[in-house]
Amino acid sequence: MVKYVFVIGGVVSGLGKGISGASLGRLLKDRGLKVTMQKFDPYLNVDPGTLNPIEHGEVFVTEDGLETDLDLGHYERFIDENLGKTANITTGRIYDAILKKERHGDYHGKTVQVVPHVISEIKDRFYQKDDVNIAIIEIGGTVGDIESGPFIEAIRQFILEKGKENCCVLLVTLVPYLNASKEHKSKPTQMTIRTMMGMGLMPDIIICRSDIKIRQEVKDKIALFSNLDPSCVIENIDLPSIYEVPLALEKEGFSELVLNKLRLDAPKADHHQWANMIANMHSCTKQIRIAVTGKYIDLHDAYLSLNEAVKHAAYYYQAEPKIVWVNAEELERNINPDKVYQDIDAIIVPGGFGHRGIEGKIKAIAYARQKKIPFLGICLGMQLSLVEIARNVLGLGQANSSEFDPDTPDPIIALMPDQQQNGNIGGTLRLGAYACKIKDNTLAMRLYGEKVIMERHRHRYEVNNDYRDVLTDHGVVLSGLSLDERIVEMIELEDHPFFIATQAHPEFKSRPDRPHPLFKGLIKAGLDRKRE
Ligand code: GLN
Repeated sequence: MVKYVFVIGGVVSGLGKGISGASLGRLLKDRGLKVTMQKFDPYLNVDPGTLNPIEHGEVFVTEDGLETDLDLGHYERFIDENLGKTANITTGRIYDAILKKERHGDYHGKTVQVVPHVISEIKDRFYQKDDVNIAIIEIGGTVGDIESGPFIEAIRQFILEKGKENCCVLLVTLVPYLNASKEHKSKPTQMTIRTMMGMGLMPDIIICRSDIKIRQEVKDKIALFSNLDPSCVIENIDLPSIYEVPLALEKEGFSELVLNKLRLDAPKADHHQWANMIANMHSCTKQIRIAVTGKYIDLHDAYLSLNEAVKHAAYYYQAEPKIVWVNAEELERNINPDKVYQDIDAIIVPGGFGHRGIEGKIKAIAYARQKKIPFLGICLGMQLSLVEIARNVLGLGQANSSEFDPDTPDPIIALMPDQQQNGNIGGTLRLGAYACKIKDNTLAMRLYGEKVIMERHRHRYEVNNDYRDVLTDHGVVLSGLSLDERIVEMIELEDHPFFIATQAHPEFKSRPDRPHPLFKGLIKAGLDRKRE
């Protein structure tokens, strides 16, 4: 039977509830348990696919093609499990289902209400399959928000139905430190607990977030107001890296507390894989500087998985990664690339939508190609590298992607022929994992070491097949094709130490203790170049 851990936030948002939940997932997995995770988001978008990355951070894509919140990326990276369509549910999706049923007449003339209809739709979406030991379920937002009320009520009812011994409520809360009086304040957490109790829910374990160590008396006080044993109130002090959180929480006895509450036994943990990764991170002997030339550089969360994938690969080589964010629009306007890319060991042009900054990205690609700087192009980054090559190598000066210039005489990147255009922008992309065949004797083959690989996609445009021959005639290797050979999935250059680009988003599949081959290759090439 599945047991449940609900992760709820107190006082303010942005406390790293997702990291706390994901850390728990990792700790439980290291104790031999099978774990899954879900995130319930209280906003009304049906999925995060249409949200602006600047406002909401990156859209993470699952293997089965769901556009999800970036927390799902943390979950996958920490618990090292692929999550699927049932892992991210928004209020919008729940209402969408209810309103469809209502229009269909499924409620047989009954008044459709938040209680019971919305609540039961939420409960039905708490993990239902019995293929795991523990489902960790995070509720977005903060206790007391108007929007999160129905989720709290759903949890209350669910615990009543499943039994207290099968559910654990984890509150992640802020315990602010007042510099003036040199003390931590428990009052905001007390107010949160009071709000929870007013909604019929009690925390079983409390994680106190703070930037400095919290005195035991403060934790005792929080325990007292929550009817908890003081051992159930633990702390999570800010750490230099999120990957240090699991083992730091374990020092506080985290997994044991959860297992006790759930009346579960589990073997002692084997953390060696995770600990090795941390050890590598702490013993970096060199630095690697990677320029990411993109549009959303003001909010690094917009490229969260990319950022993490770079770190995973760099730590693997005991190199401290230094990402230099280059604003593609500025590069487009005036800056001299020689200045921008001096001391840079490798260049990445990531994915993106919309025309802003594309000429800057093309400039970055031209620079990487001509100066033989190791280069990885991702999705839009691959499309623009072919635009660059078309313009500057094939001599097709007006070449472009038809996304940016519908009238270009040379649409080297064009809409996929079978792409349906129905006027909706949500959910019309090629999404999720697709297989790709890798050509023998290519860089791609050397990196992946496999004939067929699976990578995740999120795009609408693709390489125009009319240009395949002229590209290959000019030294472009089409090193990855879809199984039916209709879609170019990867390209590389013969005459370059490391120039590779992919239509997919490899960053979604990189894991801290299992870095992705393309990122590993890029970092290695960057380090080799430095040595020369
Ligand atoms: N805008 C491009 C497309 O839709 C690239 C998308 C991306 O980089 N994810 O095909």
